[in-house]
Amino acid sequence: MDEDLRMFRTQVRQFVKEEFVPHQGRWRDQHRPDPEAWEKAGESGLLLRDVPKEYGGGGGSFAHTAVVLEELAQAGVPFGTREHSIVAHYIHMYGSEEQKRNWLPRMAVGRLVGAIAMTEPSGGSDLQGLKTTARREGDHYVVNGSKAFITNGWHASIICLAVKTESSAAGPKGISLLIVESKSLAGYSASDPLKTVGLHGQDTCELVFKDVRVPVSNLLGSAEGNGFFQMMEQLPYERLQIGVLAITMAERALAITTKYVKERKAFGKPLSDLQNTRFKLAECKTEAHIGRVFLDDCIGRIIAGRLDAVTAAMAKYWLTDCQNRIVDECVQLHGGYGYLTEYPIGRMWIDCRMQRIGGGTNEIMKEMIGWSI
Ligand SMILES: Cc1cc2nc3c(=O)[nH]c(=O)nc-3n(C[C@H](O)[C@H](O)[C@H](O)COP(=O)(O)OP(=O)(O)OC[C@H]3O[C@@H](n4cnc5c(N)ncnc54)[C@H](O)[C@@H]3O)c2cc1C
Repeated sequence: MDEDLRMFRTQVRQFVKEEFVPHQGRWRDQHRPDPEAWEKAGESGLLLRDVPKEYGGGGGSFAHTAVVLEELAQAGVPFGTREHSIVAHYIHMYGSEEQKRNWLPRMAVGRLVGAIAMTEPSGGSDLQGLKTTARREGDHYVVNGSKAFITNGWHASIICLAVKTESSAAGPKGISLLIVESKSLAGYSASDPLKTVGLHGQDTCELVFKDVRVPVSNLLGSAEGNGFFQMMEQLPYERLQIGVLAITMAERALAITTKYVKERKAFGKPLSDLQNTRFKLAECKTEAHIGRVFLDDCIGRIIAGRLDAVTAAMAKYWLTDCQNRIVDECVQLHGGYGYLTEYPIGRMWIDCRMQRIGGGTNEIMKEMIGWSI
């Protein structure tokens, strides 16, 4: 943290409190944010903070991205800045100068909303087995296939799409990333938001591509077949963002529960007077602290350009497991009220479960760590 980040945090907190928090009930009912929320977020400087200013970004670092995620998590607002920034990151890392100038400034102001589309109905863990194809026809690719569980899917107007450009190529070599500007694109459709167990305020959809024509110039990178390697290089960025959300939510759960157990009485005295309550909170506080120290170390590493894939996998797996353990204990300490979605702790419980699944499941993270041993 420094003075610049502290001022930015104050600004983000104020914006989220005024523009997002009051609409949460409605966003949950409609299973998506209001469309204008994206442009408001862009106007307030929440989007693409870690992209250079020359492309419309904030010129900051991962620390700025972390501040935005922390403030959203502290306010209990699920909003897909994470997926949006991941798309921008792919464009920034692998896009040509022309591609960057074309897409990033519009993403920075929220006129284009990003979605990252890797997972398919037939499987998400086995990325090499993806089935969506992009067949070259003159100066276009013809894309066919579908993607499942895509965050920001309903709003998405710029999609980073993983496809097979070479269907006969074995393993990862046939995979490429295409940038698809999807609004009013013939053959493209997004489902209504799926009825997810949690994260009700954001849109998770299925995307379908039927003979969709995408200009060849929308390929990311200088040649076909680099997609898998690009994803492997960039997944640490995504996984660390998941870690930021995990620890922030765990800290929030702890703060809410600490207050609750001091107010709620059983057998004539506050729950906090019971040794079990203090022991459980002591365990949670210790774990959250360990998580925060590990997370801060990883943030330092990513800013210095040396967060490796295995450490990012450790962070994603351990921090989200830690989050789930803490939030679950906090629900228990709330008793029946912890099971109500009108209580923040109840919503946190249903929201946090996805963290062990998305961005690569925790089992896949352990596989990666295991291979390195
Ligand atoms: C709310 C939500 C939002 C999401 N947003 C996005 C998004 O924006 N973009 C996107 O592309 N995807 C998104 N996903 C998809 C998510 O990344 C996948 O669900 C995840 O990668 C797992 O894929 P799968 O569901 O196909 O499970 P599967 O791959 O079928 O796995 C099923 C189970 O088998 C286990 N398993 C699989 N292979 C192995 C192995 N080798 N060793 C040990 N265990 C294994 C898994 O760990 C899991 O427990 C989202 C999912 C959810 C729920």
